[in-house]
Amino acid sequence: MAETTLTGEQTQALRDWIEESGRVRALQHEAKQTERLERLRALAQEHGEAKAALEQHTQTHQEHATAARAAETRADDLRARVTRTETKLNDGTGLTSRDLLSLQDEIAGLQSTIEEVELEEMEELEAADAAQAEVEAARTKADEIAEEGRRLQQERGSEGERIAQELTAHQAERDALLQRLPANLHPRLRTEGDYPAAAVVTTGACGACGNQLSGMSADTYRNLEAGGLLDCDDCGALLLKTV
Ligand SMILES: [Zn+2]
Repeated sequence: MAETTLTGEQTQALRDWIEESGRVRALQHEAKQTERLERLRALAQEHGEAKAALEQHTQTHQEHATAARAAETRADDLRARVTRTETKLNDGTGLTSRDLLSLQDEIAGLQSTIEEVELEEMEELEAADAAQAEVEAARTKADEIAEEGRRLQQERGSEGERIAQELTAHQAERDALLQRLPANLHPRLRTEGDYPAAAVVTTGACGACGNQLSGMSADTYRNLEAGGLLDCDDCGALLLKTV
């Protein structure tokens, strides 16, 4: 490329092309929306965890509610037995005093069991209430995460559109500048690689890959007149001498 020297107007066009290309590359990177995508992935994970917690708390609530109902049924049965035994006792027909004592003991025993079962029922109801509070909290959290996810998705969509529009405009601008440059440079300037296809040298370093020019390349570059071109030894970028 050393034999090609651009005219003043072409030099300005390539300088502008390099700047425009920088904007295009920045927008292409921005279009990936890497951070937003990572945040979305993290939110999906958080949402999954919140849903699992919701399921777990719902199950815990159901277990305690079922246990509370079972205790209530048992207490009802016991109370019915007390009523039957009391009826028998009050009737007293054909009962000896020993029978009466035995029935009284039975009632006392049943009532003591009823108290235990009632206490158990109360504890299960309290545990069910606590689990219900956890269910509400987990549901709120899952909803909030889902809402945040929807907001981010929307943002991603609108940002994507904005970036795409800007990108199209800058690409068109860059293409227009390309037309003002010698045709033999077009293929390499159109090549999209890891590094920009052309750059200027800044403080002895290639503006595309950032590496310092070797001593020999630096000498060659120094001796170029404005509009002169050199290839970067490391990344192959077309280096433009501007002054
Ligand atoms: Zn380079």
